[in-house]
Amino acid sequence: MTKKKRHRPFTVDDYVEGVLSRDRVMVARTITLIESNAKKHRELAELVLKKLLPHTGNSIRIGITGVPGAGKSTLIEAFGSMLCDDGHQVAVLAIDPSSTVTGGSILGDKTRMEKLARNPKAFVRPSPSGGTLGGVTRKTRETMLICEAAGFDVIIIETVGTGQNEVTVRSMVDFFLVIALTGAGDELQGMKKGVMELADSIFINKADGDNKQRALQARAEYNRILYFLQSPTEGWKPKAFTCSAMTGDNIRGIWDVILKFEEVTKDSGVFERRRKEQLLEWVDWMIEDELKRRFFENEAVKKQLPHIRSNVLHAELSPAAAVKKIMEIYDNQK
Ligand code: GDP
Repeated sequence: MTKKKRHRPFTVDDYVEGVLSRDRVMVARTITLIESNAKKHRELAELVLKKLLPHTGNSIRIGITGVPGAGKSTLIEAFGSMLCDDGHQVAVLAIDPSSTVTGGSILGDKTRMEKLARNPKAFVRPSPSGGTLGGVTRKTRETMLICEAAGFDVIIIETVGTGQNEVTVRSMVDFFLVIALTGAGDELQGMKKGVMELADSIFINKADGDNKQRALQARAEYNRILYFLQSPTEGWKPKAFTCSAMTGDNIRGIWDVILKFEEVTKDSGVFERRRKEQLLEWVDWMIEDELKRRFFENEAVKKQLPHIRSNVLHAELSPAAAVKKIMEIYDNQK
């Protein structure tokens, strides 16, 4: 009979050293630790992060969005592989938006970016979006920091353009790229103005074969719209370009735009200022999240809330009076 090996639990230093030496298994384990909601994991994760923080920040953080089918995974695979060939270390975190609603997954069931995932210089990881907004922000942000500490100098955060996660992703990246498609006016209208307002650049993908001409027309149209929109980044004017993830055409153009953006915003101080603002925004988000958690997990609140809700439904309490009452219950219990 074989004796089972006894594993001692990993210590803070095991995680820290594993990440700093870019041991992939330990990087993945640390991210799993970060993603856990269990209290003891949270405490351990805090200690690990604290030790890793001095090693973070040295990357360019890129957000990429686009509707399903826009070609995001094909494009990230081509773009990421090109950067790896250039000598970069690329981490891709894909936020899967569907799990909040259905518990299912848009991204999970097909194998995406297989080639990039196998590249020794790349790291591809889906990031769960289940739970609260604060939860998504925390887990993705902390995962990004782990990747930076592990030496990845390009971080790509991918989100499916459903309108839910774009603002969250914009709030944690330096550069936000929107992948668009060609098509008649309809599709252009289909892209929410709100999403275009977040974009530092728009790349119209699938500009190949018969579609090339239409892509060029779409580019002109997007540029007209962008001209009138306020830029999300001070001192930077977003522009539209065409590319083909399939043929590789102008994929390098994406990197050129990003390098230019980095140069301009670092020179003006906007880059650093935004990172500081994002950090404080993150703190606010976490405070909100913590307050919410404390409130809804409070025993008296849990006991009284169903009753109060039912009073509202039966017109025995106005919503405002209901809130006042439940807050009083919470305040008295603290
Ligand atoms: P995602 O849902 O945004 O990740 O899109 P995918 O990368 O899965 O691509 C959706 C479909 O479009 C796939 O069938 C791809 O092969 C195809 N596709 C992606 N990029 C291009 C491109 O540049 N040109 C053409 N012709 N097809 C593309």
